Order: sequence, then structure tokens, then C-alpha cells
Amino acid sequence: MKVVILGGGLSALSAAYFLQDCPDIEHIDILEKEAAVGGLCRTYEKNGIEYDVGPHIIFSKDKEVLDLMNGLLGENNEKHRRSNRILHKKRFVQYPFENDLSKLPQEDIDYCVNAFLHNPYEGYEAENMLQFFLKTFGEGITNTYLRPYNEKIWKFDPSFMDTQMVNRIPKPPKEDILRSAAGETVDGYTHQLYFTYPKKGGTEALIKAFVKKLNDKVEIHLNNEVLSVRRAGDRFEVMTSETEYRADKVISTMPVNELCHIYEDENKPQDILLTADNLRYNSIAICIVNVKKDYAGDNYAFMTADKNVKFHRISKLDFMGENYHIDGTATYMAEITYRQNDLNDKASDEDLIAGVIDGLERIGFIDSKDDVNFAELRRFKYAYVIYDLEHRKNMDLIKEYFSSRGIYLNGRFGSFEYLNMDAVIRQSKNLADEIKGKIKSSK
Ligand SMILES: Cc1cc2nc3c(=O)[nH]c(=O)nc-3n(C[C@H](O)[C@H](O)[C@H](O)COP(=O)(O)OP(=O)(O)OC[C@H]3O[C@@H](n4cnc5c(N)ncnc54)[C@H](O)[C@@H]3O)c2cc1C
Repeated sequence: MKVVILGGGLSALSAAYFLQDCPDIEHIDILEKEAAVGGLCRTYEKNGIEYDVGPHIIFSKDKEVLDLMNGLLGENNEKHRRSNRILHKKRFVQYPFENDLSKLPQEDIDYCVNAFLHNPYEGYEAENMLQFFLKTFGEGITNTYLRPYNEKIWKFDPSFMDTQMVNRIPKPPKEDILRSAAGETVDGYTHQLYFTYPKKGGTEALIKAFVKKLNDKVEIHLNNEVLSVRRAGDRFEVMTSETEYRADKVISTMPVNELCHIYEDENKPQDILLTADNLRYNSIAICIVNVKKDYAGDNYAFMTADKNVKFHRISKLDFMGENYHIDGTATYMAEITYRQNDLNDKASDEDLIAGVIDGLERIGFIDSKDDVNFAELRRFKYAYVIYDLEHRKNMDLIKEYFSSRGIYLNGRFGSFEYLNMDAVIRQSKNLADEIKGKIKSSK
């Protein structure tokens, strides 16, 4: 039996890793359009500084997957304690915001605490993200930070987003909010408090570790953009920019909205293409900036809801250790989300870099642009799945369609879900178990 996997990111490599021990599978072809595997887990380099597509960290509540990731990295792995800050009116507030309220100006503390303790939205059922914030945190914390920050990162009004991502956030206990307003810093989201990161090689070290574990059944084909997929009897034919592949099973990890268009099917329902085009996502521009002075101290990431600052987050790469540091300087990575055809998409790279440098000046991390040694910007079309109000309905329809055609969807944009690395690996493991189970029961 032959399997073809469309795309060559973490979801493809981990799916091959979990499938390769199945005796009935003779060959697995991974088809990747770029000149390297890794997708969003790739790591780039500028003047000796290695950087990810937005800083990645390794953490999970899923112990089995976490052990696998840490085990694959072995010695090339280091534990760090989260030290993230929210920049609010030039003050450093510990993340999550509600656990460090005493750092705010007094009028903001009063607004946040009062609205939390006397919250008229508490008893309602939240039907969208904004309602969830109001119900859970009250109007003060919502309007001071959560709403503007989420508008900035999503470029989408939170009242048009559903609660899939947020409804697992625990409601902060009243005592914690009062303690945090009185000056005690309370740790929140403790499953992310400690994380690991490769000592060198960035997140791509994890990709390389997976590739090393693949046996000779698995063949990776780079520079092979998948152009069409169709059924031919019981089998599939996959055309790429290079050649044609045949397979008994197809796993797709390429963006499913694109798969809908290139899947050839005489009986394709009309509404599939419309539904595919209604899936919302954000692109990202990442910009590394090396500067002469270090204003960030021992902190790693800084979030800012300030609309006059171009980026929503900057991270100090030096935090990850000596291999991510140039002596006498600090290197930041700024992240700017955008949608196709919006103003950031249309802006030139030079303009975005200038916007990032202006933002660094506004938040007080540089005195002027003369403090900048070098900067580099890269763009990635598919970065964040947006859970708009139609997402679940749209994806249910698309999943049902591909399932009826025998194509498995896997990965962040393959299944169009907001999945981190751990969730992608879990999804691959579950998929491999499902496929192995089907092969066994068909014998
Ligand atoms: C800014 C940012 C920060 C993140 N931070 C973290 C973090 O801190 N921790 C964490 O756990 N996760 C993080 N993630 C999530 C993590 O990057 C993803 O979960 C993971 O990389 C998804 O892997 P994937 O294989 O599903 O998708 P992708 O990496 O997108 O892989 C898809 C692959 O398919 C290829 N492809 C697309 N179209 C075609 C085609 N037609 N033919 C052939 N190949 C094709 C692409 O080139 C790509 O290689 C972050 C993501 C982003 C965007």
C-alpha cells in the first residue's frame, strides 16, 4: 500500500513517523512545494542569529506528546521559565494581564476591579469571543486590554469570532483579582509557565529530529508543488509541478481551502468552493531587528494593544541563550498580522520595517533609528486560523466532503484548526491509529 502526504510541515512528518511502522504500508511519499521541509516550524538565519516564524516554544498539557518532542531533541534542549510582559502605557505588566493589575495606573486598577466584582454580564451565555471576555473578566479588563489586543492580532472584531479558542480559559477567582490589584503577582496559565526550546537551530531542530527518525519507506520530494488531486478508481493520482504520483491513501496537510480548488471531481458540490473561500485566516510578517541597547532585561515576549504600534508582540531572541545572542546587542522579533489585500499586505517590506522601528521607538526600546544595527522581514501567507462565527459550520461541511472522497485532512491549515505543535502531533498520532485500524479491519 502506498501513501502520499501533501505538504511537508510538522503534520506531514509526524504523520509519516507514526505510520511508518505499519507493515501493510510499503511506501510514503511526502510532497513539499518549498526547497525545505518544516513549513511554519522552519528557522531562518541572519548574521548568525537563528529565528523562527514567530518565536515558537515547546509546551503541552499532553504528556505523551511533550515527552516525544523533548525526547527527540535530547541534549539540544533547554528549559526556560516564562517571563512575558504586557506593555501598557509604557509599564511592564506580567502576563496574563488580570494577574498583575497593580502595575496599572490607579484609575485603570479601579475600573478593572470594580467591573470584575460587579459584572452585569456574568450570568449570560457567551455566544462570541467578546461576550466571553465581558462575562469572564468584566468590562474593565476587556476594554483596557483584551478587546484592543485581540482586535490587533486578529484584525477581526471579536464579536464576529466564536468561543472555540477561549472557552477553556478558566474564570479567575475573585481572590486572585483582588490580590493582584493589591500588589501580589499571581502566576496564571501555569501549563505554559515552563517551556523548552532547542539550544541551537531554533524550532527547525525538532523538524530535523523527526526527519532523522524516518525509515527508508519514507521519501521526501522537495520543490514538488501539488497542482491537482483526483481519484482513479480505488486509487489517487496526484500531479505536482515535477511529476505524477499514485497512491492508495492521501493525507492532505496543505491548506484545505486550496485543496478544495485543486481537487478534481466531476460531482464537486457547488457550495464547497464558496465555503472554502469563506474560511478566514491571517498572514504574518515577522521582522527581526538587532539593536545597540537592551531595554528588555530578563524578559522574553512583550504584547502591546497600542494601535499606534505596528506589531502586537515583540520577543527578545537573546532570552533563549547564547546561540541566539550577539554580544553588546539585543535582537527582537516583531510580529505583524495581516489579511490578504489589506494595507499591511500592500505595504512594501521597507515600509513595514520602518513601522517596526517606529514602534520600538514608541515603546521606548530604542532612542532613535540610529540604534538599529540590522533588520530583516519575511512574510508567511498562512499563519493563524480565524475562528469566525461560520468556521465550525464551514469546516464540518468540508470535512464531510473530503471524508466521503477518502482523503484525510491533517495539520493546522490542512484541517483548518488553531493547532500548536503538540496538537498537530497528537492529531497525526490519532490519524495514524485510525488508518492502521482501517487497514486491519479490511483484511
Ligand atoms: C506566529 C506563529 C507562532 C507559533 N508559535 C508556536 C509555539 O510557540 N508553540 C507551538 O507549539 N506552536 C506554535 N505555532 C504553531 C506551529 O507553527 C504549527 O502548529 C505547525 O507548524 C503546523 O504544522 P503543519 O504541518 O500543520 O502546517 P505547515 O507548517 O503550514 O505545513 C504545511 C506545508 O505544506 C506545504 N504546502 C502548502 N501548499 C502546498 C502544495 N500545493 N504542494 C506542496 N506543499 C504545499 C507548505 O509549504 C508547508 O511546508 C506557531 C505558529 C505561528 C504562525
